[in-house]
Amino acid sequence: MATNVSTMIDSDRIAQRVRELGAEITRDYVGRNLVLVCVLKGSFVFTSDLVRHIDLPMRVEFLGVRSYGEDTKSSGVVQITHDLTKPVEGDDVLVVEDIVDTGLTIAHLLDLLRTRKPASVKVCSLLHKPARTRIQVPIDYLGFTIEDKFVVGYGLDWAERYRNLPYIGLVESSS
Ligand code: 5GP
Ligand code: MG
Ligand code: MG
Repeated sequence: MATNVSTMIDSDRIAQRVRELGAEITRDYVGRNLVLVCVLKGSFVFTSDLVRHIDLPMRVEFLGVRSYGEDTKSSGVVQITHDLTKPVEGDDVLVVEDIVDTGLTIAHLLDLLRTRKPASVKVCSLLHKPARTRIQVPIDYLGFTIEDKFVVGYGLDWAERYRNLPYIGLVESSS
């Protein structure tokens, strides 16, 4: 199935970086009310690895979002398909994203989450494509900066496929 996907970031590099991010988050959130908000579907793999490297009492919530429009472009207008199950008022929310591309989606989600009156909201993203930025949103915890290529795997899809690849890869156009 994955024969037409070339590796951009292999699973060892991902695992190493996720360990580092978990340690950093652990240090920063000691004594706080950490709630990780996993943005579905793309960040389900990243979140599940990351939480196992956070050595703190914490909660996990899931926010299901669907972008309107084409799958490979972002309008930033997102439909909530699954909302948080508990209030986050007064909590320290850390939004976990798969990738920040134009920044439109994360900007929209931050606006939405701030209406819930958390004590703080920060962003953790596995990937960032700075070449395509349309809105600057600070990424407090970043896995990797990548060039402007459409990537799949480790939770990220192309028409709902490839989420199960254990690495980040590029779909070869000859497929
Ligand atoms: P943004 O609103 O920042 O442009 O895009 C965010 C969303 O677009 C991501 O959460 C992801 O669903 C999708 N996206 C952006 N770039 C890529 C990419 O290279 N690969 C995949 N699979 N999805 C992407
Ligand atoms: Mg996402
Ligand atoms: Mg997608």
